Amino acid sequence: MKEEKCIFCKLANGEIPSATIYENEDFRVILDLNPATKGHALILPKEHFANIFEMPEEWEMKAFALAKKMGAKMMEVLKCDGFNVIQNNGAAAGQTVFHFHIHLIPRYENDGAGITWVQKTLSEEDKKEILEGFRA
Ligand code: AMP
Ligand code: ZN
Repeated sequence: MKEEKCIFCKLANGEIPSATIYENEDFRVILDLNPATKGHALILPKEHFANIFEMPEEWEMKAFALAKKMGAKMMEVLKCDGFNVIQNNGAAAGQTVFHFHIHLIPRYENDGAGITWVQKTLSEEDKKEILEGFRA
């Protein structure tokens, strides 16, 4: 299924030109317009799924297998020192385009990309509540 107004549906299916670094029957991998680092790319399924919860398991497996393959290729082509695989679900998690995508962010020593978070301490209260929630 494609969503008529979805920009990532159009990009994935070639209706809007993009800087494509890889394509197969199910996915297109394009360079992000506003990269965190040199080579930041997005894996876009050619079918529309708003987020990971809408995506069937067979697609998930293919998407993450492709993330690994593209990561290895990035290490080789871009000579990066590592890479992040990031996949946002929901506005609270930073998702701005509601068509599933995986960010592949090549990392270079001291690149200053700042993909990090402030570390807090796991409180006994939170730990107890969370563990109880998962055991229920
Ligand atoms: P997210 O915040 O996870 O939804 O990520 C959306 C990403 O899509 C951002 O990193 C944007 O820079 C990128 N983006 C938005 N529009 C385009 C576009 N037309 N071509 C390439 N990347 C885009
Ligand atoms: Zn879409």
